Amino acid sequence: METKVLTGIIGYPLSHSLSPIIHNACYDRLSLNWCYVPFEAKSDISVDSLLKYARESNIAGLNVTMPYKETVLSMIDELTPEAQKIGAVNTIKISNNKTVGYNTDAIAIMKVLKEEYGKSLKNKTVVLLGAGGVAKAAAYVICSLGCNKIFVVNRTEEKADKLKKIFKSEIADIDLIASNSTNLIHVVQGADIVINATPIGMFPNVENVPINTECLGTGQFVMDLIYHPAKTRFVKEATRKGSKTIGGVPMFINQAAESFKIWTGISPPKGVMEAVIKDFLEA
Ligand code: NAP
Repeated sequence: METKVLTGIIGYPLSHSLSPIIHNACYDRLSLNWCYVPFEAKSDISVDSLLKYARESNIAGLNVTMPYKETVLSMIDELTPEAQKIGAVNTIKISNNKTVGYNTDAIAIMKVLKEEYGKSLKNKTVVLLGAGGVAKAAAYVICSLGCNKIFVVNRTEEKADKLKKIFKSEIADIDLIASNSTNLIHVVQGADIVINATPIGMFPNVENVPINTECLGTGQFVMDLIYHPAKTRFVKEATRKGSKTIGGVPMFINQAAESFKIWTGISPPKGVMEAVIKDFLEA
């Protein structure tokens, strides 16, 4: 029997991960003798051991999720420029005994912004909620697309400050606002784009919203990176206020599709991924 090519995801915990079902559905559809498995790792040492093993095995690629997206950097042989700048890796390609780290979250955010917002970011103001791993990927994209002004809103000031230090040379103006600031409402009112890169509103806490949606309105683009639920309360309320909105499912599909392409060299059937996610979220 021909040996299967293995791919998978490293993180902890992984019981919630949708990545195995969407990748395996695409391998099946394309009749590839590939398989995607969750590798739960309880420590950095386990991650490092897995990567050492992967270099000399039939593992061709790995996704990386919480809590290892940042710590894995020092264990990888080569990084793409965006993974290096963002300081986080969510995809590793393994070939010829070498590991290369990518950040397909950034590639996915770029695609979704271009497709769904569709306008230039020059002279636009973006409010970015959150300063964690995915917020850094979003900040990278916003800067790359030529935006002039970002407000970063975060609960912990030090983390927002770290993000600012990484990107301040890439953008004319980057300001920090505390999430409890009374000025936040005016800043959000003046924004062209608002991106939620926090888990506020994610299943099971679906009644929560990251900011007061009263300050949103027509002419604004609201992007929530949460994909479970597909439409958060934040997205629903922003839509009601007249904003153009998008949830996190398209980003999730695009980041997975980019990983799939990096490993197999083939563009996956995105319709299969969409159907699997729809089934899961509506079940
Ligand atoms: P992370 O690195 O842990 O960062 C989380 C950020 O949210 C931090 O800035 C944190 O603030 C803030 N935060 C968390 N809980 C909060 C709370 N209760 N109140 C206020 N702020 C809070 O996580 P991440 O990897 O960036 O992921 C963030 C979210 O993005 C995930 O939960 C997920 O829903 C979404 N995501 C979506 C995709 C996709 O493909 N669509 C991919 C990755 C992530 P502090 O600095 O104060 O801790």
